[in-house]
Amino acid sequence: MIKTIAYLGLGTMGSGMASNLLKAGHEVTVWNRNSEKCERFRRKGAHVADTPAGAVRGVDLVMYSLSNDQAVEEVVFGAKGILSGINEGQIAIDMSTVLPATSLREQEAYAKRGVDFLDAPVFGSKDESANAKLWIMAAGNKAIFEKVKPVLEHLAQTVHYFGKNGNAAAMKLVGNLIVALEMEALAEGLVLATKAGLDLNTVMEVVKVADFRSPLLVSNGQNILKRDFSPSFALKLMLKDAGLIEKFAESVESPIPALCVAGKNLASAVALGFGEENASALIKALEKEAGVEVKAISAS
Ligand code: NAP
Repeated sequence: MIKTIAYLGLGTMGSGMASNLLKAGHEVTVWNRNSEKCERFRRKGAHVADTPAGAVRGVDLVMYSLSNDQAVEEVVFGAKGILSGINEGQIAIDMSTVLPATSLREQEAYAKRGVDFLDAPVFGSKDESANAKLWIMAAGNKAIFEKVKPVLEHLAQTVHYFGKNGNAAAMKLVGNLIVALEMEALAEGLVLATKAGLDLNTVMEVVKVADFRSPLLVSNGQNILKRDFSPSFALKLMLKDAGLIEKFAESVESPIPALCVAGKNLASAVALGFGEENASALIKALEKEAGVEVKAISAS
C-alpha cells in the first residue's frame, strides 16, 4: 500500500493534487522550484524538501506536474534531480503534458534504477484539480497501475488505463487537439456573432443547450463575455501543447490542418502579450484582426 508520497511542482495543477493527497491522509513531501509555494503546504502538515533528489528519497511514490518537457528534463534528469535520489522499488508518475517520446525516455531512465514509471497526464483544470474531479489517464505496467490506482482516485473522477508507456501522454495530446479546436471554434464563432450584431447573451444561451454544447464552450464563452481571462489553463501552455501535438502528429504521419491554424492564432495572441492569461484569450488575436471586442452588451 502507498503511504508516503513526494509531490513536485506546485503550480495550478500540482497544488490542487498535493492538497488532496494530504486531505486523503498521505504523508506528503513537497518540492517546488520557487520555494515560497511550499509554505502553505508546510502549514498543512507536509514535509518540504530543498531539492527534487531530497524530496523523493525513500518515499513509496513520486508524482510531478511540471510545465513542459524542458522542466521535466531539469527536474528528472538534472543535477540533484529525481533520478539522483530515487531507488529500486519506488514508483514515479509524470502527470505533466509532455511528448510521448519524453515519457518513454523517462521510463527507460527509471528502469535502469529499478524504478517503475507511469505517464499519467490529466484533463480538467484548476477547479477540477482543487476539487479532486480530474480525469486521469495512465500508462505503463498494469500491476503498478493497479497499485497506484487508489491514490489516483483521490484526485480524479475517472481513471483510465491506456496500456504501454507513452500511450497516456499520446491520449492527452489527442484530447488537447480537440480542446484547442473547440477554443478556436468558440473564438471564431463569438467574433462572427459580434460582427453580425447578434445579442451575445442569447448566443451563449443557445451554445448552452444546442446539440454542439460542451462544458468547455459554456464556461469559456461566459468568461469571455465577462472579459474574465484569469488563468486556469494559461494561453502559453496551450501554445506549448499545440507545438507538442504538431510534433507528435508529424511523428505518426497524421494530418492536423485545423490545429495548425489554431496554433498560429495561439502564437499571435501570445505575441500580443496575453500568454499569462487564460487560453480563451486566444480570441484577442481574432478580435484585433476583426476590429471588435466580444463582450456581453446587446448589439440590437
Ligand atoms: P503552472 O501553474 O505554470 O505550474 C508549472 C509548474 O512547473 C510550477 O510548479 C513551476 O515552478 C514548475 N516549473 C516550470 N519550469 C520549471 C523548471 N525549469 N524547473 C523546475 N520547475 C519548473 O502550470 P500548470 O497549469 O500547473 O500545468 C502543469 C502541467 O499540467 C503542464 O504540463 C500543463 O500543460 C498540464 N495541464 C494543465 C492544465 C491546466 O488547466 N492548467 C490542465 C491539464 C494539464 P515555479 O512555481 O517555480 O514556476
